[in-house]
Parts: sequence; C-alpha cells; structure tokens
Amino acid sequence: MNNYKARTTCAFCGSRDLENIIDFGNVALAGGFLKPENFPSEQRFPLRVHFCRECYALQVLDIINPDVLFADYFYFSSAIQSLRDHFIDYADEVVPRFLDPANSTAVEIGCNDGILLKPIADHGVHKVIGVDPATNIVRTINDPRITIVNTFFSSAVAEQIRAEHGPAQLIVANNVYAHIPEINDVTRGIAGLLDKDGVFVFEVHYLGSVVKGLQYDMIYHEHLYYYSLLSLENHMSRHGLVVFDVKPVSIHGGSMRFYVCRKDGKHARKVSAQVHRLRKEELEQGYNRVDCFEQFAGEIARRKDRLMALLEEAREKGLRVAGYGASGRANTIIQYCGITGNHIDYMIDDSSAKWGYYTPGSHIEVVSRDHLASKPPDYLLVFAWAYLNEIAGKCRGYLEQGGRLLTPLPEVRQVSHPRPERDR
Ligand SMILES: [Zn+2]
Repeated sequence: MNNYKARTTCAFCGSRDLENIIDFGNVALAGGFLKPENFPSEQRFPLRVHFCRECYALQVLDIINPDVLFADYFYFSSAIQSLRDHFIDYADEVVPRFLDPANSTAVEIGCNDGILLKPIADHGVHKVIGVDPATNIVRTINDPRITIVNTFFSSAVAEQIRAEHGPAQLIVANNVYAHIPEINDVTRGIAGLLDKDGVFVFEVHYLGSVVKGLQYDMIYHEHLYYYSLLSLENHMSRHGLVVFDVKPVSIHGGSMRFYVCRKDGKHARKVSAQVHRLRKEELEQGYNRVDCFEQFAGEIARRKDRLMALLEEAREKGLRVAGYGASGRANTIIQYCGITGNHIDYMIDDSSAKWGYYTPGSHIEVVSRDHLASKPPDYLLVFAWAYLNEIAGKCRGYLEQGGRLLTPLPEVRQVSHPRPERDR
C-alpha cells in the first residue's frame, strides 16, 4: 500500500516516547465523498493520535500520500465572504507592522486562490510569491503582481526561491502548517528563506480549542498536528526560530495566529506578554502532560456512548433520524462513533455539489434540505453543531411541524429550538 505510511517516531523531535491518545481504527478519508460504484474500491486507513512525551506535540502518525489526500481538492477560499474579509484584515495587520512594502518580498505557502496574496499585493509589496500544489486552484489567480510556484513547498523549493528572488521579509501559511508530513524539511526551508529580521506568520486550528471544546471532529488524516504553544516553541527552537507573538482568531471555531522569527532577528528581543500568558495557561491546563489528553479522550468516549445509546434507542422505536452538515468533521464523528445507514436515513447538506454523493466509510446519501419536508425525520442530528442557530433558522418549518434537533457536541443533547416569532 504505497499510499500509506505509519510513523513510529515523533514527526517533530524523532522521539519514540509516544503515547496513544485516541485510536479511530481503520477509517475512510474524511473528505472522500463517493458514488455507489466506488464503494468496492474505497480504501480505509488507520487513524491514531499520539502525544509525544519529549516535545509535547499531539499528532496523527498515519500518513496518507498527499497526492491521494488532496487530489480532489476543490476548496476555493475566496468563495466565502467572511474568509475574504478575514484575509483583508490579516494583510492590513501584517504588512504595515512588519514590512517596508517597496523593498519587500512576501511568500505564502499554500496560497490557494490568492485570497491573502491579493490584499498583500494591494499594499504595494514589491514581490509577492505563492506556492501551492493545486494546479486547478492557482490557475484562477491570474494576477500579474503574483508569481506562482505550482508545487508543494520544501527546503529545496525554498532554496530555489531564495536564489531567484532573494530572502523573504514575510512568509505566511494559513491552515496548512498542520497538514505537512515533512514538517522539519519545510521548517528548515522557512528558516533558510527568511531574511534576518523577517517574520513567519501562520494560522492553525489551536489545540486549546480542540481540548476545551472537545472538538475531536477536527481530527482527520489531513490534520496531522494539533499545535500548542508549548510544542511549537520546542519545534521552532530546533530550527533557530522563536515564537514572539500569538493572537487568537475566531475563524473556524478557534484558530491561533503565531508569529515566528529567527533567534538572531530583531523581533526575538521582545517576545510579547501574550506569549508568556499563553505559555503559563497551557502549563496550567497540562498540555505538557499525557493525563490531560487521556482525560480528553475519556470525555469524547463518553459522548460517543451517549450518542450511540440515543441512536440505538431511536432505531428500536422505529424513529427516523437524519443528519445535517456533510463535512469532513461529520465523517469523523460518524466513523468514530460507528454510525451507519441503519442509524441515519440521509445527510442534508446545503452545497449542491455534494448531492447524490455518499459519506465515506458509512455510505449515507447526501441530499438537499427539501427532504426535511418530503421525508421528515423524527430527529435531525446537527453535525455542523458550531452553526446550530443558523441551522435552526433554516429548519424552521421542520421544527414547527414538531421536528427535533440533536447535537453530538459539545454535549449530546436534544436542543430546545428557537420558537417561531408568531408563536411567542
Ligand atoms: Zn516529539
């Protein structure tokens, strides 16, 4: 099986002192929605989360060939207005703070459709370079101010960029730094490409959000790492780098923006109070101790038991259950809990591109919201639980007819829905 490789050592420090926290068993890729004709050839891979006692990194040890994982990558960031606004604000912050635009080079790792590079270019940054392997996506950038390097970023690619364009004063990477199997090679490339006083800024989903929010549905093969400041400081230090600032961002239900520079760079001389505060908080939370993560695993196992008891009971009573929100996150919940087509009749999703496809592993059909009226379920299990209120609004008709919502997280419960205005 060339598409799969199991690590036996920590991806960051190479230690063998790894503790298994959660074992999902053999699961289909969370993003792999498929048609019935492809059920027989569907592949499953182990998915295990480990904690490194040496450097505190929480990580998935099961590595899927990125060509398989991202082959059908149809995620265009710019399609989402709130993301566009987010990245305009991002450019408005980092360019004035760190760059003399006319004399600067900015490089983005995983530039997607240019959602951040365009606003960076709007600030007059001299050279703007985007690196991304998704040909169909970078092709849409079509902006003469932006140079595209259409490949996966690596230390070799970083050397080529430096040889051709000189060092970078700013390197950015958003929602990709947790997805990179060869994290040391890539970080070596970043350290080598950074100018002496340059900064590396990146956003990732934050470990604290996962642990406190019990967001185990964030765990799938694409997301290899769940970063704490503690683990990142250990990692960056081995590459001659320092985390000098942090900023929580609410996007995607709890991300963190990390600011990194060379140890000999000017920003390393004033590490922000927020960094010291976050480090202290993480030590108090126990993100450097395995028992903290064992407790996390125990909490999610309890939610699994509660949810399955509820679904089994509904099945025994002959009640109909449907799901809402056919995302990768939903597939993690479905596969971790062992939910099947016997528990859930169909999955609703608002994206028409998914209709007619089936969920990976569990093979539940994805349909439009119209099904709520034509085949109303007794319960609607809201997998997109972070958008509960919005979904309750969209399902008002169903709720008025006596439909009920269930959430799988942060608590398994039946939700008392917002009552329609005229009934108040
Ligand atoms: Zn380690």
